Amino acid sequence: MTQVINHGGGVHSIKVPIPDNPLGHTLVHLLDTGRGPVLIDTGWDDPEAWDTLTAGLASVGVDVADIHGVVITHHHPDHHGLSGQVREASGAWIAMHAADTAIVRRTRESEPGSWLSYLAAKLTAVGAPEDHIAPLLAAREQGGRMRTLPGLRAALPDREIVPGELLDLAGRSLRAIWTPGHTPGHVCLHLEEKHPANLPGRGRLFSGDHLLPGISPHVGLYEDPDDATATDPLGDYLDSLERIGRLGAAEVLPAHQHAFADAAGRVRELLDHHEERLTGLLALLAEPLTPWQLAERMEWNRPWAQIPHGSRNIAVSEAEAHLRRLVKLGRAEAVAGSEPVTYAAV
Ligand SMILES: [Zn+2]
Ligand SMILES: [Zn+2]
Repeated sequence: MTQVINHGGGVHSIKVPIPDNPLGHTLVHLLDTGRGPVLIDTGWDDPEAWDTLTAGLASVGVDVADIHGVVITHHHPDHHGLSGQVREASGAWIAMHAADTAIVRRTRESEPGSWLSYLAAKLTAVGAPEDHIAPLLAAREQGGRMRTLPGLRAALPDREIVPGELLDLAGRSLRAIWTPGHTPGHVCLHLEEKHPANLPGRGRLFSGDHLLPGISPHVGLYEDPDDATATDPLGDYLDSLERIGRLGAAEVLPAHQHAFADAAGRVRELLDHHEERLTGLLALLAEPLTPWQLAERMEWNRPWAQIPHGSRNIAVSEAEAHLRRLVKLGRAEAVAGSEPVTYAAV
């Protein structure tokens, strides 16, 4: 069953399913413009998702061939997966922030096995046990790319989303707000128009994965095999949150779950949540821990023993992002001479 919501003022959302994923669906937004309909995100690259997307468009009188453009909040496959197919069907342009376009390009061009080599070396450095790393090395030996690695065929965008600028959309005022953290090139899109139901505040915000009503988005390291810069994605994320809170949007249209008001209240909740989490980690770091050991001791949505292999990699990346933040704040530091490196509260 197709679920389409009319948000008024020439904005619809279509619930596009994500196969085998607890998130359930991506909310793909449709924005009417003077030069034709524009999509904000497209959904996972999967036949059922495609059918749901095109049926949803048809239910509001839009043929996918008429799509004028595609604006992508960030490169993740539940947002950018179907962009290529939409472009093929319509000739639409695809716009993305340069930092995420660089990831799409790098992933498309990566040699078979190079990502696995990077991951294995990185996991060794953070203290992962041998039995966790062995399957990665075995997969590399087989010369294959991991079947589950998404993004290998992701569409290369042909337009750049420039932070702070209005997108070139006839008759609409949609401004790009750069919100790095969840990915380095994540953007929120601020529809700077009067709310159609006169909710108090300044317009509506398409928030992608940056601001969700009931989920704290994953923030890990940016994981660029070609760049060893010690970035601080969690610091970026928290700064981006404060910036979004100050916009005063009347309503938030996120890419998962449901639309909501009181963006500033949700921002405060998330800032408090992260402050609490960082404080909790400092207590764990009373004894020196590797990033892996920290991940094992952190609270997740299920016990560590039940977290599957791939999700452990994501978890340890999140633990590292928290360590980066604590080191940057001067609240933790690496223990000199430790290998694999351990961190302790100061
Ligand atoms: Zn995402
Ligand atoms: Zn997402």
